[in-house]
Amino acid sequence: MSELNYSEDTSGHLFRQSITTLPRISDKRGKLFAKLGIETVGDLIWLMPRSYNDWSRRVPVGRLVEGDVATFEAVIENVPSLARRGKLSYIRARLGDDTGSIRAVWFNQPWLGEQLKRGEHYIFRGKIEGSGRSRSVNTPEIRATNDESPAFIPVYPLTAGLNQATVRQAISTVFSNRDLAITESLPAGIRTDYRLATADYALRRIHAPESEHDIEVARRRLAFEELFLLMAGLRYMKSGRRDECGPAMKLTEEVLERLQKQIARLPYKLTPSQESAIASILNDFRQPYPGNRLIQGDVGSGKTVVAAMAMAVAAWSGYQSVMMAPTTILATQHAESVASILEGSGLKIALLTGGMAPSRKRLLTDSLAEGEIDILIGTHAVIEQDIRFVKLGCCVTDEQHRFGVRQRVKLSGEGDIIPHTLVMSATPIPRTLALILYGDLDITEMKDMPSGRQAVKTYTARGGDRSRIDRLMEREINLGHQVFVVCPMIEESPELDIHSAEAVHERLSRLVFPDRRVALMHGKLKAQEKSDVMRDFDQGDIDILVSTTVIEVGIDQPNATLLIVENAERFGLSQLHQLRGRVGRSQIQSYCVLVSDSDDPLVRRRLTALCKNSSGFAIAEEDLLLRGPGDVFGVHQHGIPDFRVANLYEDGELLKEASRAVDQVFRDDPYLTNQENRLILNEFKARYDDRLTRPGL
Ligand code: ADP
Ligand code: MG
Repeated sequence: MSELNYSEDTSGHLFRQSITTLPRISDKRGKLFAKLGIETVGDLIWLMPRSYNDWSRRVPVGRLVEGDVATFEAVIENVPSLARRGKLSYIRARLGDDTGSIRAVWFNQPWLGEQLKRGEHYIFRGKIEGSGRSRSVNTPEIRATNDESPAFIPVYPLTAGLNQATVRQAISTVFSNRDLAITESLPAGIRTDYRLATADYALRRIHAPESEHDIEVARRRLAFEELFLLMAGLRYMKSGRRDECGPAMKLTEEVLERLQKQIARLPYKLTPSQESAIASILNDFRQPYPGNRLIQGDVGSGKTVVAAMAMAVAAWSGYQSVMMAPTTILATQHAESVASILEGSGLKIALLTGGMAPSRKRLLTDSLAEGEIDILIGTHAVIEQDIRFVKLGCCVTDEQHRFGVRQRVKLSGEGDIIPHTLVMSATPIPRTLALILYGDLDITEMKDMPSGRQAVKTYTARGGDRSRIDRLMEREINLGHQVFVVCPMIEESPELDIHSAEAVHERLSRLVFPDRRVALMHGKLKAQEKSDVMRDFDQGDIDILVSTTVIEVGIDQPNATLLIVENAERFGLSQLHQLRGRVGRSQIQSYCVLVSDSDDPLVRRRLTALCKNSSGFAIAEEDLLLRGPGDVFGVHQHGIPDFRVANLYEDGELLKEASRAVDQVFRDDPYLTNQENRLILNEFKARYDDRLTRPGL
């Protein structure tokens, strides 16, 4: 077996060395480690313990509770007996202290029979099973009372074939290497101000703590570092933008006048939020560097008109714009909305989707490259292909796709000009979280809703209420309104007992409303069929649209006033909120019925939360409470990297501290030029470069 060997003493080399260079890590074991994402020594030291076996906290025997894994000190009360049954051997003993006693059984460790003597004291650790008289501990680990081994033993995530001992051994080998030098990525000043341990101390202690305090100190440092590095990196990217070349638009008097005229043509008055969002975008447009702005507003707050006006201003200033949507339906909807908002402007707006005939597509891309099209709207998938603009000035996208978009849009004609980016988001995110998710963006919040909006009246219902729900649909249709019915799956799946969209459509169109226009929409329809259905629905030619969640995002039909969600328990809280945003988009009172037969208390709480709250922020908070730490409102969808130590929901305070520390560093050194601050940047790149595939670094 090879010992750790490296010619130079730079720890960089050691970290990059394959773990198979460690003693006792064969290629075969190396493959098992690889399953855990560990290939190098550097990866290994970052394998964080899941928990610790705590030998220090002793529970009185009388208080050992079924299900606990506990440590206790006890005396062996009887002569341990060895029994065999076939190949199985087991030793039984009774262990006790002055608070009570418990049975212990050790399977297949016959040698213990010689070792364990009545009257001797030991420390035991194991899982407690059963209660009362049948309480027992199964194959507990044993330590002598004067044992000096560490009180906290790390427990690592494993994979089949790999055991704790192997992992612990490998890690301790690395740390016992005297040449191991762990680079410090936090500036000394920050460490002092925020009472943080050094990287070296923290990493050593997290794997070999001597006390609970050690674990806390180590964890705090490592979690802080993760949050700090990500925020500092994003912040650096943000300030780095100022060195990039953007489309600096003139925004002449004439352009601003045209804008005012276009706004005056709208059938409504803009909300103050919409006005100030437009103002900040115009301000971005004037700068010589590319703007990167997040427009955050609840569903129905009217983000489309903001984007449309921004794109019009770009066009009048001589720049093309592109707006991207995740689905064809949405892109089509956006194109129609934008066209109607910009009616009379004379601007050329085009739609580009996957289902388009190649010849038509060619025509379109040609005129785009000639500069004849001002605003291109389409799906990401299509636009990210080889589309060429003459002068791209503004790129509007939605939150799901923000990472990497700027870079993939092919720019042409203007050298290295990077367009302004607008990210539209309906996901309510607590401020602290926004720093992590959108630290590199300027944020505009659209707080107020178009006036006259009434909250959507939301109710829960059970399958047995079917006829009442049918009557509600009938009533809305008679009023000339339209109805959405959303189902979680499209095919009947008897095991799961899910109403598929097809079955619901069948029932409604044949049995309940044979004289009404009931349509079906799901992901497996052809693009053309989908857009036909959407067009019919838009034109009011459909009374009831039964659909899978394809209608979830962005669809805008003010005449739709009733939303029925089947198997509502299958949807998350935020998802339900997004769905509900499909109705209540006008002055007319709208309704939402959440149908579920589930009695799961969590489900009931979720549904009640929706009935009680209409604001996305309140719902996001509730979501956080109900789901607890985990993937709250689709953080992963935003492209946020998994943290190794930090937890965005539990480390809220630490997040604030780290954010203050970032401010502090940037106040004194906005471009991170000094030696110590360079290290922050190096570490940020090392950790996140491949995930944040954006220019500017
Ligand atoms: P979202 O922010 O969810 O994308 P939309 O832009 O789709 O919202 O707008 C929702 C609806 O509100 C649309 O029907 C739009 O015409 C309407 N709307 C937008 N702004 C206003 C306003 N200031 N006053 C009244 N209605 C508005
Ligand atoms: Mg929208």
